[in-house]
Amino acid sequence: MAFLKRGEPGEWPQNTRKIRRIRRRKAGGELSVDCRAGVSCVVRLKTKRAINKPLRAATSRWISHGASSIHGRGVRARVLIPAGTRVVEYTGERITKAEADRREKLRLARGRRGGDDCVYIFELNARHDLDGRTRRNVARLINHSCAPNCRAETIRGRIWIIALREIPPGEELTFDYGFALKDWRLHPCRCGSPKCAGYIVSGWQRRRLRRLVREARALERRTAIN
Ligand SMILES: [Zn+2]
Repeated sequence: MAFLKRGEPGEWPQNTRKIRRIRRRKAGGELSVDCRAGVSCVVRLKTKRAINKPLRAATSRWISHGASSIHGRGVRARVLIPAGTRVVEYTGERITKAEADRREKLRLARGRRGGDDCVYIFELNARHDLDGRTRRNVARLINHSCAPNCRAETIRGRIWIIALREIPPGEELTFDYGFALKDWRLHPCRCGSPKCAGYIVSGWQRRRLRRLVREARALERRTAIN
């Protein structure tokens, strides 16, 4: 249960739907937010549990999550999902490109220390990215596949995971992460699809990736012989 305080103390907004986005987390269980009225508000959270309460739906009736057959945890279809369905929204924190670069460096450093180096930052537009590294964003658990059954699409500033075809209940949801070719060695792929190129890169660059992998392996063999 969250209590809102709008502008001056004692002035209360109508309901929590007025919250547009979290501005920054304050000390003492408070969140500073922008409400629809354009007024800066402070949300005081009664319990620690309330901090993780979604401000906007971050899961959906179509899915359930648990152990993945590809990597770590994953998301599966709970019921039959028709082709073209907006399955779940990929939610998170809207950040500037500069902040995204800073967080990317932290992620790489975390990976070098053996920690979680999963990528959760999505490109939203020319100025902003979306950092989905939050527990309330269930879509962050969807794994990559080289033969995906979903795609990620930005619709009016929101990122949706959309079914590419009919997905039967129990099937794991996947989409193409679309990583750049230049960092291919950083992202091994375990999707197990016959189309798998061994590393996660954007679908249209997979042919070039296969050539790079072949060349790298040939070089390794030559080095081992010498
Ligand atoms: Zn793969």
